[in-house]
Amino acid sequence: MLNVPEMFGSAVFNDETMKKYLPKVTYKELKKTIENGKPLDINIANVVAHAMKEWAIENGATHYTHWFQPMTGITAEKHDSFISPTEGGKVIMEFSGKELIKGEPDASSFPSGGIRATFEARGYTAWDPTSYAFIKDSSLCIPTAFCSYTGEALDKKTPLLRSMECLNTQAMRILRILGDTETTHVTTTVGPEQEYFLVDRKMYEKRKDLIYCGRTLFGARPPKGQELDDHYFGSIKPRVSAYMKDLDEELWKYGILAKTKHNEVAPAQHELAPIFDTGNIATDHNQLTMEIMKKVAEKHGLVCLLHEKPFAGVNGSGKHNNWAISTNNGVNLLDPGKNPRQNIRFLLFLAAVIRAVDEHQDLLRISVASAGNDHRLGGNEAPPAIISMYLGDDLTEVLRSVLSGQEYISESKPLMRTTAEVLPNFTKDTSDRNRTSPFAFTGNKFEFRSVGSAENIACANFIINTMVADVLSDFADQLEKAKDIKSAAEDLVKKTVGEHKRIIFNGNNYSEEWIEEAARRGLLNLRSLPEAMPLYTSAKNISLFTKHHVLTEVEIRSRRDVLLEKYSKIINIEALTALDMAKKDILPAVTAYIKELAESANLVKAVDPEIVPAAQTELIRKLNNLLNCFTKKIDVLDKAVVGAKDIKDEAENAMYFKENVLAAMQELRAVADEMEANMSAKAWPYPSYGTLLFSV
Ligand code: ADP
Ligand code: MG
Repeated sequence: MLNVPEMFGSAVFNDETMKKYLPKVTYKELKKTIENGKPLDINIANVVAHAMKEWAIENGATHYTHWFQPMTGITAEKHDSFISPTEGGKVIMEFSGKELIKGEPDASSFPSGGIRATFEARGYTAWDPTSYAFIKDSSLCIPTAFCSYTGEALDKKTPLLRSMECLNTQAMRILRILGDTETTHVTTTVGPEQEYFLVDRKMYEKRKDLIYCGRTLFGARPPKGQELDDHYFGSIKPRVSAYMKDLDEELWKYGILAKTKHNEVAPAQHELAPIFDTGNIATDHNQLTMEIMKKVAEKHGLVCLLHEKPFAGVNGSGKHNNWAISTNNGVNLLDPGKNPRQNIRFLLFLAAVIRAVDEHQDLLRISVASAGNDHRLGGNEAPPAIISMYLGDDLTEVLRSVLSGQEYISESKPLMRTTAEVLPNFTKDTSDRNRTSPFAFTGNKFEFRSVGSAENIACANFIINTMVADVLSDFADQLEKAKDIKSAAEDLVKKTVGEHKRIIFNGNNYSEEWIEEAARRGLLNLRSLPEAMPLYTSAKNISLFTKHHVLTEVEIRSRRDVLLEKYSKIINIEALTALDMAKKDILPAVTAYIKELAESANLVKAVDPEIVPAAQTELIRKLNNLLNCFTKKIDVLDKAVVGAKDIKDEAENAMYFKENVLAAMQELRAVADEMEANMSAKAWPYPSYGTLLFSV
């Protein structure tokens, strides 16, 4: 029988293991570092390193690695063995505090957006003691931050840690102003729900587009898609179920709180949701989850696709980023409690989030911008590119009362469950209440739904943390001067909600009317990465990040360039793949099929010259027309790719790739799909959408 509690965290140097392996004093010092961010003395680090190594070796490890999250979006690791030579040609296993705290990978092969050109190539990884070390593939993995020789962040974790610190500082100010003398620390909690597709490995291997791009670039629509809504929460097929079981067990070993699994809307699409954790650990765990999802799939003859839009015509995948703020005593500051209208602390934090989302729509859009996610945002399946907030009827009623000064009527609302102690204090947004909002209040947390399935959630979270911290800091500045805190806070909430209520939208975000309405409200509609990304370096944004020491101006510029460059590179790879498939496989396949048809027509005529092979002739004519068109589209795409070579500016280049290359790819695809729909399955060189989506 599976002993889950025993297996849970068995590959992790967690609190329990630390207690077992560390001397009491060392453990206490380390805890201080973890909880209060106190720097760790090298002598203590030596003891910790030794204990980690002993534990790791007992559990089969031979190597260690600093595990970090460069701007590539995936995690990086470089493994060193513990061996150290001794006399007589022997070795001992060693691991020092210095090796634990600091690593020196060569930074020059990671994207840096120009930082490495201006500074040195050397980079450092620095131990993040707030995230537990773990053993993966016989290596002790130490979560680390990654920065350049001169200290610029080259990774996704550093700004996240900085932003959590800054949110802590500003939230603590508010709590103190409100008379809270007990709380010592505030942190963000994050629960990322991860969507993914599973396809059969053998089918996958026959598709260059999936291999090189993670998404299909061609493929005619199958007779059935997701229109029957019969996959969402449907019973899980045995092969998928076996995969999910294995995945859960693997994740539990790493101390990842995998909780919920179910089928998603599109055929072959599924979801995994963990129980929330601190922002930092949730991020590390999500990175690890994505990696393990892929690895476990291999064992089952499957491939896990994390791309935001693997298949046209059915839903793509996202990652719902559930976000809240919690005190060290476990109080959720976004919990409205029994009477939200009287809960001034809640109202202040709520108002801060409302203002932050309105003031920084551009940054939220940027935080989820990627070549893959652009296919999702704006389609009728995911939140649109327009950022708005959903608060639900109950909170809207609370805010109405704040604004009007009229009484808050909760009794008439059947949804408020203030009478029964056993029920939650506040109504929750059940799954079908409003699934269309990008930023939805769901009872005691916000759910940012625009995040792409393949992205590192650090990006969305450091941006949310910083923008909310910024508003809290302004609130604190104002309230610190106030004589009567309660009425000043009430006024502040009223003023803030009044000024920023345009960002609140409880209706259907997928509708055409909303696009028009949002434009009337003056909300941004940044449909693609090339449109959004240049705003990263606006004066407003530079001032926001530098004020709170989350990013320097150099770091912001570098991030902008890395993201723009990555976008162009991805579309370039996709275009080259599409051209390769078009020229090497599709064109020859269609030509061969036409030949087959022609031969058939001749055979028929050979039997009896009087018979007119009308069907063959008609099909030949049709396919031949399409083929002529196809070769023209190949030519257009070829030229579009070449045209990019002259553009030097990253922003201009990205825009060029969107408007010329991506557009040409879509046109090429349309013709190919039409040909596929008119050919025999046997003659088409790739497994069809139907096979990919329905064969597992
Ligand atoms: P749903 O989105 O379907 O309503 P849940 O309410 O169960 O689902 O929550 C979804 C995700 O939100 C889970 O990962 C859960 O752990 C996370 N979550 C719940 N409470 C919080 C919180 N206070 N902070 C961050 N995430 C949370
Ligand atoms: Mg959800």
